[in-house]
Amino acid sequence: MVPTNIKNFDTLVVGGGIAGLQAALDLGDQGYKVAIVEKDASIGGKMIRLSKVFPTLDCASCITTPKMSAASHHENITLFTYCDLTSLNHEGQGIKALITQKPRYVDPIKCIGCRQCEYICPVHVSDAEQGDFSARKAISIPFSTAIPQLPILDVEHCMLCGQCEKTCPTHAIDYFQKPEEFIIQAKTAVITTGFDLLPVKNNFQYGNGHIPNVIDSMQMERILAPHGPYNRVLRPSDGMEPDSIAYVQCAGSRDKSMGVPYCSRVCCMYAIKQAMLLSGSLPLADIIIYYMDIRAFGKGYEQFYQNAKAMGIEFVKAKVARIDKGENGSAIVRYENQDGSGIATADHDLVVLSMGMIPGWDPRSICPVSKDSDQFITSIKPKISPVLTNMAGLFVAGVAAGPKDIVDTITESGSAAMEAAKFMSNSHMEN
Ligand SMILES: Cc1cc2nc3c(=O)[nH]c(=O)nc-3n(C[C@H](O)[C@H](O)[C@H](O)COP(=O)(O)OP(=O)(O)OC[C@H]3O[C@@H](n4cnc5c(N)ncnc54)[C@H](O)[C@@H]3O)c2cc1C
Repeated sequence: MVPTNIKNFDTLVVGGGIAGLQAALDLGDQGYKVAIVEKDASIGGKMIRLSKVFPTLDCASCITTPKMSAASHHENITLFTYCDLTSLNHEGQGIKALITQKPRYVDPIKCIGCRQCEYICPVHVSDAEQGDFSARKAISIPFSTAIPQLPILDVEHCMLCGQCEKTCPTHAIDYFQKPEEFIIQAKTAVITTGFDLLPVKNNFQYGNGHIPNVIDSMQMERILAPHGPYNRVLRPSDGMEPDSIAYVQCAGSRDKSMGVPYCSRVCCMYAIKQAMLLSGSLPLADIIIYYMDIRAFGKGYEQFYQNAKAMGIEFVKAKVARIDKGENGSAIVRYENQDGSGIATADHDLVVLSMGMIPGWDPRSICPVSKDSDQFITSIKPKISPVLTNMAGLFVAGVAAGPKDIVDTITESGSAAMEAAKFMSNSHMEN
């Protein structure tokens, strides 16, 4: 059945990461009515999950939270979180999107975000927001600065004890909530669906995710974050302070066999950043980065790399062939030195894999926007206007268009907002 609930906006922004927030704010400030549709329970994307950001080492949430808050309080921006995009097509002069609001089992109008349901819930579940290193409740607000401050009831783990319903002071728990479909009609759309990391389980050379204390870089961001799972740097399997930490660069990227032949661009820089933060937390630890080449491409990045070397972080030019389980929770890294000295092995207490970035959204069967051979959304004018797609009125920004850092993401979002505004003012003049 075609939904009858139709909402009209000037621009639909798909994805509420830093790219989507920036594009929405730029358009909202110009007076355009903007809808942000986000699949997760909160806006903020990957950036709100980071510890600090290179090259300035500013706190990531100190930059992201004000943007999240500005978007949620903006008179021209409406947030639709925890929503699936079912289709996105041209219709008439504009864009039509079919959206499904997933059930939270909590009434968003009645809920006051007091967390009483979360405190009383007796079920503990592994918390993916904290890299699966700590637990959350089966009904919980995803993280402390989430926007909106609404809990989600995890039906897979809920044992229907009814405690949350009895405790809720506003009777907001609704076990019978159903998915709701609605349509968004807009003059333009901006795709900012970002990225995911290639899962470690896809990488047989590095243990398919089965070796304890071999983690991915996003998990290390959580360990280093101020509100992280341990509040200090500990290794996950036994809570020991690691004395030797290794980074494996290009773990997945630049590797045809992994389906990621391209460079993910930010891994060198975030590994250097994390190594610097680790050396601050664990001054006596040995920190080694196994790398093929260091790509310090942005303003101030080369200096950042040189600073890391001066701090004593060791850079070993080598290709890591495999990682095996060692004794007492260690991981054995087997690598080929690129200086011709052959194959070597080293034992580390903790190993971080810099996994490749893959697109966060696959438009296939949902939207006729075209993708490049790396599966990111293609620009039809990559040199002079990288935000233009093959669909008129549909623009792309951030990592949805290809791997990039925050600086380039923000710049591209401004450009997408500018192109969308130009498109709308041109169509206005034609009519
Ligand atoms: C470990 C790590 C550390 C990093 N550190 C730094 C750093 O220090 N400095 C720096 O400059 N860069 C860093 N980066 C890169 C930085 O994270 C990205 O540049 C930035 O997050 C890109 O923002 P984005 O909005 O394009 O994508 P994302 O942050 O991925 O946001 C995309 C949003 O779209 C949503 N979405 C996806 N599909 C859909 C859909 N179908 N419908 C609705 N919503 C959808 C997602 O849920 C997400 O909220 C790091 C990256 C990693 C992996």
